[in-house]
Amino acid sequence: MARTPKTYEGGCLCGNIRFAAHGPALDPHTCSCKMCQRHTGALTAAWVVFPKASVAWTGPGGAPALWRASAISSRAFCPVCGSTLGAIDDAPTVGLLLGAFDRTGGRELAPAYHSYKGGRPKWWRVEAADS
Ligand SMILES: [Zn+2]
Ligand SMILES: [Zn+2]
Repeated sequence: MARTPKTYEGGCLCGNIRFAAHGPALDPHTCSCKMCQRHTGALTAAWVVFPKASVAWTGPGGAPALWRASAISSRAFCPVCGSTLGAIDDAPTVGLLLGAFDRTGGRELAPAYHSYKGGRPKWWRVEAADS
């Protein structure tokens, strides 16, 4: 039976960049690669992915500022407060960081796997299905 897809809202620390992402949230996972660590300042980042067409930038600042991080993707951040929002890929997908979401309680957001888990210190515990 069809359920109405959820809309996930969130944004940066100062409120300049806001998003509304229309579900379903795809590929929930955590990542402890060095790029995610440097980008977020956290040892592990928690991600979900949406088709680009499902994400609207709804804050006064419009779309986030971008920094080209790899051959396939740019990291997205607020130019006012510096908060990271995620990554905008060259592919028609947007990765959003769960820490930027207003609400993260939904079980469908729980990470299914942990990529680059070897990048975290051994004392850092991460809840993901394969952690
Ligand atoms: Zn901001
Ligand atoms: Zn990563």
